[in-house]
Amino acid sequence: MPIYEFFCRKCQEPFTAFMSMKEHDERAPKCPRGHDAKEVEKRISSAHAVTTKKSLTY
Ligand SMILES: [Zn+2]
Repeated sequence: MPIYEFFCRKCQEPFTAFMSMKEHDERAPKCPRGHDAKEVEKRISSAHAVTTKKSLTY
């Protein structure tokens, strides 16, 4: 299962999560410290060097 990078706005810290591509497309995970998923931003992993979120494709 791929690892994705996320960033919690409450913690102001990045974290990683294991999830399927389908899960990743449908929702963000909860922060590991318990903050709601709406506080979590998706981050593009370093393997995918893209410049804008609009070009995020899988
Ligand atoms: Zn958090």
